[in-house]
Amino acid sequence: MKKTILITGASSGFGKAAAKLFHTNNWNVIATMRSPEKETELSGLSNVFISKLDVTDKLSIQNAVKEGIEKFGKIDVLVNNAGYGALGALEGATEEQIKQQFDVNFFGLIEVTKAILPGMRQQKSGTIVNVSSVGGRVTFPFSSLYHATKFAVEGLTESMQYELNPFGIRLKIVEPGGYKTEFSGRSMTLFSTDGLDEYQPAFNKFMDMIDHWPMSENIGEVADAIYEAATDGTERLRYPVGHDAAQLIATRQQMDDVDFKKMMIAQTGI
Ligand code: NAP
Repeated sequence: MKKTILITGASSGFGKAAAKLFHTNNWNVIATMRSPEKETELSGLSNVFISKLDVTDKLSIQNAVKEGIEKFGKIDVLVNNAGYGALGALEGATEEQIKQQFDVNFFGLIEVTKAILPGMRQQKSGTIVNVSSVGGRVTFPFSSLYHATKFAVEGLTESMQYELNPFGIRLKIVEPGGYKTEFSGRSMTLFSTDGLDEYQPAFNKFMDMIDHWPMSENIGEVADAIYEAATDGTERLRYPVGHDAAQLIATRQQMDDVDFKKMMIAQTGI
């Protein structure tokens, strides 16, 4: 019997690449997004059901899950992928920007997971793949809020795997390094620098480092990692992916806090 996957944030980047890969591998795909009316690439693909879902809108989550189950019978895999980065000195972040970063990257992921779990518990099987980041393991300057959300996703996922084990539900964390998607384009939010000139030289150096980061164009690697996590049938929890991710995580593990801070300050030129 065909398996069914629900993916959040399938309008671009990793979410869209994963939707295409699972479709190619003969899965039923519930490709969810905030603006389905703008989607052209996935619409028309057989067994791809495009559904409106904003992770900050509980009703849209419930509707998308209900419609998806009505269409395909059940959901075997959930990929919590929707997310974005809010960068800058924390002092410049408005209350709304702080709340929004957590609402999308963390509380939204929780709401979608809660909507999926009753079905998975009932069928006594399922896999939940949470797209974290290398930034869920390693920190950079001027990214405190983003890291906070991804560290939260890591802790949530690692703990949930215990309580869901008796129901045959597996938890997985995919940790991409830097990839060229809308993440560093239209999706990115920068905090205000008004009245915060003292941060500016260091922030400029950080942004320069980001601009020159060797972002990979091969976003298919992340889709492959999501596919592996969803289908390998193992108890493996974490899937770092990308030329930079494994190296950064290994470096962090080899250094104590003081040495890592020194290295990061030297690397970013702050
Ligand atoms: P992307 O191309 O910007 O895709 C982000 C997706 O999230 C878009 O589909 C966007 O939808 C969606 N989204 C944003 N807010 C949403 C909301 N409230 N409800 C539903 N969907 C929402 O970037 P990406 O790189 O593929 O990012 C996917 C995930 O990978 C994110 O969780 C990100 O943190 C993580 N990640 C990315 C990188 C990287 O270098 N690219 C590295 C590590 C981790 P709209 O089209 O409607 O805006």
